Amino acid sequence: MAAKVVKDDTVVVLTGRDRGKEGKVTRVMPTLNRVVVEGLNRRIRHVKARQPGEAAGRVEFDAPIAVSNVAVVCSHCQRGVRVGFKFLDDGVKVRVCRKCGEIVEKKKVSRDG
Ligand SMILES: [Zn+2]
Repeated sequence: MAAKVVKDDTVVVLTGRDRGKEGKVTRVMPTLNRVVVEGLNRRIRHVKARQPGEAAGRVEFDAPIAVSNVAVVCSHCQRGVRVGFKFLDDGVKVRVCRKCGEIVEKKKVSRDG
């Protein structure tokens, strides 16, 4: 299925600690149905020094979020919306906002769906 959320999308988180926050998608994990959003779902990993002299400590990172827990932000609606697909006259497949019908972005969607 073609991805409803792709890299560089602005998404809003629908559930959990970061609910209501927006961020940019930095990574998509299609097989896991998860996305990594910049600055959101921050977790701290406690690491031990692996070699003598190496610093031990806490490493902060953005943990993946389930795709179903985020919504793409429509630039027209200014809010998270559901996304559909349609074909333009020239055959290019685009994502559209289900609410206002506007094209979410001009970027081509992969043709696997
Ligand atoms: Zn919209």
